[in-house]
Amino acid sequence: MAMGNLLIANRGEIAVRIVRAARELGIRTTQVYSQADADSLAVKLADGSVEIGPPAAAKSYLNIEAILSAARETGADAVHPGYGFLAENADFADAVESAGLTFVGPRGATIRLLGDKVAAREAAAKAGVPTVPGSPGRIDDPAAAHELAKGIGFPVLIKATAGGGGRGIRVANDQAEFDRLAPQASAEAKSAFGDGGIYIEKLIEKARHIEIQILGDGERAVHFFERECSLQRRRQKVWEEAPAVTLPGDIRRKLCAAAVSLARSVNYRGAGTLEFLYDDATKEFYFLEMNTRIQVEHPVTEFITGVDLVREMIRIAQGEPLRLRQEDIHLNGHAIECRINAEDPANGFMPAPGAIEALMVPGGPGVRFDTLLYPGCTVPPFYDSLLGKLIVWDDSRESALRRLAGALEELEISGLKTTKSLHQALAVDEDVRAANFHTRFLEQWLERNPLS
Ligand code: ADP
Ligand code: ADP
Ligand code: MG
Repeated sequence: MAMGNLLIANRGEIAVRIVRAARELGIRTTQVYSQADADSLAVKLADGSVEIGPPAAAKSYLNIEAILSAARETGADAVHPGYGFLAENADFADAVESAGLTFVGPRGATIRLLGDKVAAREAAAKAGVPTVPGSPGRIDDPAAAHELAKGIGFPVLIKATAGGGGRGIRVANDQAEFDRLAPQASAEAKSAFGDGGIYIEKLIEKARHIEIQILGDGERAVHFFERECSLQRRRQKVWEEAPAVTLPGDIRRKLCAAAVSLARSVNYRGAGTLEFLYDDATKEFYFLEMNTRIQVEHPVTEFITGVDLVREMIRIAQGEPLRLRQEDIHLNGHAIECRINAEDPANGFMPAPGAIEALMVPGGPGVRFDTLLYPGCTVPPFYDSLLGKLIVWDDSRESALRRLAGALEELEISGLKTTKSLHQALAVDEDVRAANFHTRFLEQWLERNPLS
């Protein structure tokens, strides 16, 4: 089932990334775009393109009918969903396959099982993977959750079963706060994700976010070691690394084995990531969720393993068996990714869309910049603020940090405000250099280090 024409149902830097991978596999690409993205880099680079609607994502990148009709119109035989938008929408995966097209990702049923965060917790527990202590299942009656929260012990997190992208999570420090927030959380989840289901987790303090990359072909599954994504703001990743330098070898082996065992237990097909919290002090790890798609930070894994994950996920979708055996996958050196966002770090990270006047992209060995930018382009205000990802690799973490500082110095984006200065400050911070951080570190750091 070799693909002839791959439709890219996404935008931004990941669309560009997919065009490149498809091209290298000899596959034509069709880029769909909203009216706001007619001049985007992905549209320029793809072999063909089709407008699918107005700027609002709900009318374009989330419009299943418009995307399927673009596929029919252009003779596309496959769809790559990227990340965000419809990437974890099981109904979309089913609709693509019902239309006789190949979906580059897991089966709809797998997404349904693992994309629901409560169902995923249950699947993990069944595969013998420890989860964060919390409610046994989803909660549809927030009032009934009162006793449950008390049993778990405060502080707890209230999470949306359909949540993602750091949204739909609240902290309750005591019973009164919980009773007030639970109904609000449920109502908000209903309007944001179309599903009011919530669940409760114990708040794990001072933990690291460690995640395992896997690929499965429906039968076999392999892992590509871990990434550490502890530097976050509002539960969104800002800076990611591979490997996690402070992770003990025996814990790494356990996490990787747990990830592969969960993937095998559902006959996983495609690229996926299992997210965990890891507590340095107790050496305990807890499964958080599984993302059934390619992730933003996949390039750090590509650097340390030498494997092109996007190309491999397309090959798997073509029905090819995994080409890699676990013993062929080795971890080499250290990689760091900085998300460069169109936001003003001096002004509460306010989104800062606009026109790019000039652009200087860093280069040299071990430096990669995955971006949607080109000189003269305009960054529309309708989508998330990621402009590009600066990724560096070197043989050790220390030299990677030095390379990163140089690459950030070379990077020049003029015309709008970006988060480059945040990354420059982090790259030379003593705690960051010592990898002495946890998921709340960056927010606390920002209170101590206001950026100008
Ligand atoms: P990653 O782990 O790859 O960084 P994120 O969870 O940050 O993934 O999500 C990547 C993108 O997908 C972000 O743009 C985020 O806003 C979006 N996203 C993830 N889950 C959802 C969801 N359930 N609904 C809407 N957008 C989502
Ligand atoms: P999303 O689907 O939005 O990515 P996750 O469940 O993956 O949501 O959590 C996002 C981030 O929120 C984590 O990386 C972590 O920083 C924080 N977080 C989530 N659950 C917990 C928890 N139980 N205790 C402490 N922090 C948590
Ligand atoms: Mg997550």
